[in-house]
Amino acid sequence: MSVTGLPPYDDTNIFARILRGEIPCKRVHEDAHALAFHDINPQTPVHVLVIPKGRYVSMADFAATATEAEIAGFWRAVGKVARDLGLEDGGYRVLTNMGVDGGQEVPHFHVHIFGGRRVGRMVPRAEG
Ligand code: 5GP
Repeated sequence: MSVTGLPPYDDTNIFARILRGEIPCKRVHEDAHALAFHDINPQTPVHVLVIPKGRYVSMADFAATATEAEIAGFWRAVGKVARDLGLEDGGYRVLTNMGVDGGQEVPHFHVHIFGGRRVGRMVPRAEG
């Protein structure tokens, strides 16, 4: 386990393969610090993923170990992508899943941008 509760970075994860161009994606933005592309299984009319270029397992890993330039560059990209997608007037949600309780499936830090409809308040009630 890493200090952030997840195994160390795995270079075979699906987003690492997208970053290397081994798997195609519907790209909406790319710069020195971030890549943004449409989610393969969209939950809202607009559902875009933004990932850092660096090898960060999770939000916790990114927050603890990324450089200030990487953190600033990444979050500026998130804002730019949402703006360029035309979501600012109607609003949108940015979400990241971290670890097991957060429901994280892909072990490369990413944020989801949901928009294009009202997405409701916060999270569903507890299951079970
Ligand atoms: P997580 O649950 O880790 O926060 O979200 C992972 C997201 O990645 C899911 O919404 C899933 O639909 C998306 N995803 C998984 N595999 C692929 C893929 O190969 N391409 C794209 N564009 N999205 C993917």
